[in-house]
Amino acid sequence: MKAPDFRYTRPVTMAEALALLGDEENEASPLAGGQSLVPMMNFRMAQPEILVDLGALKELRGIENADGGLRIGAMTRYAELAASKLVSERAPLVAMALPHIAHAAIRNRGTIGGSVALADPAAEMPAVLQALDARIELVSASGTRTVPASEFFLGMYETALEEGELVAAILLGPVAAERRFGFHELARRHGDYAMAGVTASATARPDGTFVDWRIAHFSVADCAVRATGAEAALEGAKPTDAEALEAAKEALSEIDFSADLNASAKTKRHLAGVVMTRALEGM
Ligand code: FAD
Repeated sequence: MKAPDFRYTRPVTMAEALALLGDEENEASPLAGGQSLVPMMNFRMAQPEILVDLGALKELRGIENADGGLRIGAMTRYAELAASKLVSERAPLVAMALPHIAHAAIRNRGTIGGSVALADPAAEMPAVLQALDARIELVSASGTRTVPASEFFLGMYETALEEGELVAAILLGPVAAERRFGFHELARRHGDYAMAGVTASATARPDGTFVDWRIAHFSVADCAVRATGAEAALEGAKPTDAEALEAAKEALSEIDFSADLNASAKTKRHLAGVVMTRALEGM
């Protein structure tokens, strides 16, 4: 199927873009890499009157040092993230997740901001950003605000983005040398959306125990979700501590698991325990 008729615009200033997106007379949608929006339009799941292509907005591009951490512009493509030394050094969890996102052709065009704004429950980045305590920078005609990733993803394709607002950047704090990271996902084929996945980070102490855990699951519920009960169960334990791991798996019952085309909610709960165990084994 082909998309219904729409107008295409490519503003060169933020003010122009935000005016178009904030105009209540028109139903305007931002266009980033188009890897999700264009198929959704072709399937008539999205019917914007105006596409506002963000491709010419310099403010939304680039990976920069920000107080020892990173500021990643929303229009940064997955392929650019994968090629970035700054990302591999300062955001190793992002680098770990990237090869699992779709296929090379999609990573050449898909953007981190598009993934964050879409909030697909099976996408890797929303969980990665929660495990990294990232903040999402949002911009609209009335100004800029930042929202912690843990408060940004509200439900299936539902976020804290308000009408006329854009994801401008992803902000990541500095990473201590003792911080360790884990990632695991199960997919039918490499590059397919995950059936279940998890991201984790924690600080290693000299005695081998880990503290300050962040664990976020994806593709098991309506949106990427922190497993705070599992984090508490693992606090002060070694990632391989069988008793703590069993308690962490038990605590996963706090998640509101939901079925998708791949598996029932019950199977998702089981898979969440499997991916968590495997991610922790690698930390
Ligand atoms: P677009 O498609 O351009 O936009 C997506 C949505 O976000 C639209 O509603 C758009 O209006 C909005 N939007 C875009 N940018 C902004 C912004 N800055 N501010 C506010 N709103 C904005 N993704 C995964 O995470 N994991 C996978 O395994 C995976 N597999 C895929 C397999 C296939 C075959 C395909 C086609 C896609 C797959 N994707 C996967 C999705 C892909 O990663 C998309 O590129 C991504 O989800 C959206 O990014 P985009 O830049 O293409 O956004």
